[in-house]
Formats: sequence, structure tokens, C-alpha cells
Amino acid sequence: MLLNVNNLSVSFGGVHALDLDHFSLRDKELRVIIGPNGAGKSTFLDIICGKTKADKGEITFNGKSIFGKSEVKIAEAGIGRKFQKPSVFPGLTVYDNLLLAAKMKKDIFTSLFFKSTPALEEKIHHVAVKLSLTNVMYKPAGDLSHGQKQWLEIAIVVLQDPTLMLIDEPAAGMSDEETESTGALLLELSKSHSIIVIEHDMKFVEQIANELVTVLVRGKRLMEGTFAEVKNDQRVIDCYLGR
Ligand code: ADP
Ligand code: MG
Repeated sequence: MLLNVNNLSVSFGGVHALDLDHFSLRDKELRVIIGPNGAGKSTFLDIICGKTKADKGEITFNGKSIFGKSEVKIAEAGIGRKFQKPSVFPGLTVYDNLLLAAKMKKDIFTSLFFKSTPALEEKIHHVAVKLSLTNVMYKPAGDLSHGQKQWLEIAIVVLQDPTLMLIDEPAAGMSDEETESTGALLLELSKSHSIIVIEHDMKFVEQIANELVTVLVRGKRLMEGTFAEVKNDQRVIDCYLGR
């Protein structure tokens, strides 16, 4: 297993945000996590990437414990996170945003003065093709459609060369067409990356969930199964889908 999580819990004040018995992910698996608002989905990803400290638990990635490690150390270990809120530079072109992200593999000082190289150009081009950004490369990022901005965010994560990508609600606010393209992009990315996606649009979940779906409810793992198993589970219908 690439990622193994056991007995992970965190409370904020009196609120038990997460109390997860077990979660594991295979290499190159694409896992979807669903569940009602406040179920602890984002908190779970926050803990994996080191943004939030858990109270207790075990998290191993590639066989090594990453529990309690800093965000920087966890990123260096190969976990990349796309947050819900945008983090691109709107005044820079798509190309410059990608170049900056690719260069940030080096330290900030080096990256400011570092010129691009053919290898870096090749890598940026490859990622731009994967994320459907080639025809907007020289547009300011601020002028992109909502969908394209999200794809740029994902491209920026890909350029950090993560083994595992954590993606929180990528299709939020997208049109049906953009949502479908996003699904296709994630399926393509999952050939080369392990991915955990949080999502609540069930049509989108159906498109991308070719393996397991994990259902979180009130911080706990209610069940795990294929899309069909989850969709037809009476507990899932009662707690989430039926509402
Ligand atoms: P989801 O992503 O499934 O909608 P969250 O992980 O955002 O849920 O939140 C789980 C619970 O933890 C909610 O009750 C939320 O209000 C609470 N929570 C999340 N982050 C914090 C925080 N930093 N401080 C206090 N409470 C938080
Ligand atoms: Mg959330």
C-alpha cells in the first residue's frame, strides 16, 4: 500500500472532526471520498498533507511514518495538495505560472534567477497538454474560465512531481461540460499518479470512480465500495444521498 492510515482522530474544541478507523490506498489508485458537509473530508486531506495536526493516529506513506511531519517535509516526501481556494497569480500568464511552479522545485532564491531549460519547457508543455491548457498558455491566468483556473491549479500540483495528489472538490462551480472534462483529466492523470479526490457531484463521482469510493459521515468511515455498492447502500442513502 502507498498510504496507510490507522485510528486517526482530531477534535477542534469539543467537535470530533475526524475519527477514522482505517484508510489505505494502492499505488496509482484513484479514490473518491464522499459525504455530507462537515463530515471531515477536507480535514482528512489537511492532516495527510500536514496542514492540520491530528491528535493521534498512524499515517505511513511509502512505508515511512509522516504523522506529525511539517507540510514541507510531507511535500518533499511526494504528497501534493490542491486546495479549494485558488492560489495562481492572476496577473501572470498561464505559462509563467507553470514555469514558476516548475522552478519552485528548487529553492525560492534560485528559482527567481533561474532561466528555463529545454527539459523544463518539455515538462511544462507535457503538463499543459494533459490539463488542456495549450491554447491559453499566453493569457493572464486571471482571464481564464473557472474550469481552466482549476486545471491550472492541478497542473501546478503536477509540476511538483508528487506521487500522491490530494484534490478537494475539483468540479465545484463548474459547468456540466467543464465537469466532464475534469473527470477525463483526472482519469488520465491517474495512470501516472495516485489520487484522492473529494467530491459531492454524484454524476462526476460515477464518471471517475472506477475503483473504490469511501463514504465519511460525522468524521467516521461509514463504508467503502464500488460506486454501485455505495449508491445502493441504505445507510449511505439515509445519511447522505437521500437528503
Ligand atoms: P467536509 O470537508 O467534509 O465538509 P470539514 O473537514 O471541513 O468537513 O469539517 C469537519 C468538521 O470540523 C466540521 O464540523 C468543521 O466545522 C470542523 N472544522 C474543520 N476545520 C476546523 C478548524 N480549523 N477549526 C475548528 N473547526 C474546524
Ligand atoms: Mg470540505
